Amino acid sequence: MSKEKKGVRLEHVSKIYQDPKTKQDFYAVHDASIDIAPGEFVTLLGPSGCGKTTILRMIAGFESPNEGEIYLGDEPINELTPNKRDTAMVFQSYALLPHYNIFDNVAYGLKLRKLPKEQIAEQVHGILDLVGLQGMEDRMTNQLSGGQQQRVALARALVLEPGVLLFDEPLSNLDAKLRVDMRNEIRRIQQEAGITAVYVTHDQSEAMALSDNIIIMKKGVVAQIGDPHTIYYRPVDEFVADFIGESNFLRGSLSQKDGASSVATIEGHAVEVANVGHLAVGDACVLVLRPEAARLADAGTLPCRVTLSRFMGNYQNYQVTVGQTLVKITDFNPKNHKVYEVGDEAFVAFGPDDVHVL
Ligand code: ATP
Repeated sequence: MSKEKKGVRLEHVSKIYQDPKTKQDFYAVHDASIDIAPGEFVTLLGPSGCGKTTILRMIAGFESPNEGEIYLGDEPINELTPNKRDTAMVFQSYALLPHYNIFDNVAYGLKLRKLPKEQIAEQVHGILDLVGLQGMEDRMTNQLSGGQQQRVALARALVLEPGVLLFDEPLSNLDAKLRVDMRNEIRRIQQEAGITAVYVTHDQSEAMALSDNIIIMKKGVVAQIGDPHTIYYRPVDEFVADFIGESNFLRGSLSQKDGASSVATIEGHAVEVANVGHLAVGDACVLVLRPEAARLADAGTLPCRVTLSRFMGNYQNYQVTVGQTLVKITDFNPKNHKVYEVGDEAFVAFGPDDVHVL
């Protein structure tokens, strides 16, 4: 791809809709500020109805913001119609022309631009190589598998050489195995093309696998923006910690604050923690503990009783109680560790760096 890739910037963008039942206005997106660098792959992730698609559609120009400004590169684009924006969208439904072959589907946008025939053929063949459909130009799109149709949809968008490629849950109609193959393909193609991508999904593993950065949305508001590592290990709140992966929430209070090493009291037990940030002694706190970050042991941080112990093949699944708190533990190496049974008394073992303090 020869054209310049572009960044996308949203500055305090809001979208208000009217609820069709109550006739009340509400913010589908509220005060979203997002900065996407050129060449970056960003996913909008969150539960159904949180405003992901609305943000994507505002970038594409299918919806206008009520407040705020959207920039493509340095250009404000609020006033531009979709066809005047340097974006292309890959839809969940593929939106292919059913009675056209693959070549004509991919060439369609270039023909509208009235490019010379030879140039169209060259660009279409180049893109079909990139998406792995070389040699299939004459196949009709209604005779293709779901995965092949998705590749054609991707080729149709890429051939326009947009500054930004937008994806609206493009893998939803594929079965689980194909989804994983196709998401790896999408990442490879995006990196080879060096294009900026904004991708909407509610599938957290898709977001983790694809993204340079993830934007977590909650009820129209941006809850957190960060790379997958930061989102997983440093969630800003319980919503993010709960939405991405599994979390245990150990509730208590900060009993000692001493530089890098502080102490929280959880269910009456002292727990050493790091990075307590702005919390002061006496403040309520929540320790976020990932199930795989904790171990069961004969000695450790918090005494517990085992209430569930299940061999799952490649891991052992535990649930234990620490006082009133239920804690889930995943042991990915049960072959080399002592296995505990229901009713056993044991300890939840973890280090100060294994918990994230909220
Ligand atoms: P999903 O994962 O289910 O697609 P989403 O996060 O993409 O959800 P949006 O489609 O952006 O959510 O919708 C955000 C909110 O705005 C929802 O409550 C939705 O019902 C509402 N909404 C979307 N489009 C309109 C519209 N044209 N008129 C009124 N309300 C709308």
